[in-house]
Amino acid sequence: MVVTGAASGMGRATATLLARHGARVSCWDLNGEAIEETARLATDAAGDAGEALAVVADVSDSDSVADAHLRTVADLGRVDGLVNNAGISLPAALDSPEWTAAWDRTMAVNLTGPANVLRTCIEDLCRNGDGRVVNIASTEGLGATRYLSAYTTAKHGVIGFTRSAAMELAGRGVTVNCICPGPIHTGMTAIIPDDDKERFARRRVPMRRYGDPAEVAQMTMSLLLPANTYTTGAVLAVDGGLTVQNT
Ligand code: NAD
Repeated sequence: MVVTGAASGMGRATATLLARHGARVSCWDLNGEAIEETARLATDAAGDAGEALAVVADVSDSDSVADAHLRTVADLGRVDGLVNNAGISLPAALDSPEWTAAWDRTMAVNLTGPANVLRTCIEDLCRNGDGRVVNIASTEGLGATRYLSAYTTAKHGVIGFTRSAAMELAGRGVTVNCICPGPIHTGMTAIIPDDDKERFARRRVPMRRYGDPAEVAQMTMSLLLPANTYTTGAVLAVDGGLTVQNT
């Protein structure tokens, strides 16, 4: 099982949850120190199920992804499940000088990244006709926020990519689904002051709070279960009701 962006936030929560339930997890991230820590946590959580693997990888770089895949197969065997979770958020106004760099990097990591990793693992996923893929998009894939044009466009793209891949792989027994988290307490949202988070949650989230990474990890794990054989191309919001509330 591969989890990208596993050094922090939802990726770390997912890797440890999967390990706790007996999966052999290959934890991929750019951040070498933090990914070692995730692998330690996942190994502790796994008990007798075996060690988790830490792999330094940049999902935007196809050579790096190919190396990470080779290491994973050598240590853990074929990849039967994939969580495309790695992502960045680089706000930039459309008319700001930073926009082009923010757009290029965001597309490379958030949209090309999941495609790179899926394409690299595709033979493994298809081999036994039971592969599972979960792409982490965002409620920004369903709506939009000012100054996040690159992020919002990439996340809309992740939903489109999920649906296309689901169609292409359904005949080979592989399911491809997508989760759209709402506001979650992670590294990505750590810079937002607590007061602002609270005000936003009270105004916009029916459950009146930010979510925890473990709450998203639970949904991700359920989509990865071998028994989850007939759900594919689905887009599931894990957002405390944010995208349902009208007023
Ligand atoms: P996070 O910043 O805590 O974790 C993201 C991880 O991705 C980090 O460990 C980072 O090093 C890694 N990463 C970044 N670029 C990478 C690359 N090129 N290759 C490999 N790893 C890379 O953030 P998070 O909130 O846990 O984000 C996880 C996913 O959830 C992202 O795709 C994000 O867009 C999405 N998301 C987050 C929220 C939220 O409120 N936090 C909401 C909706 C969607």
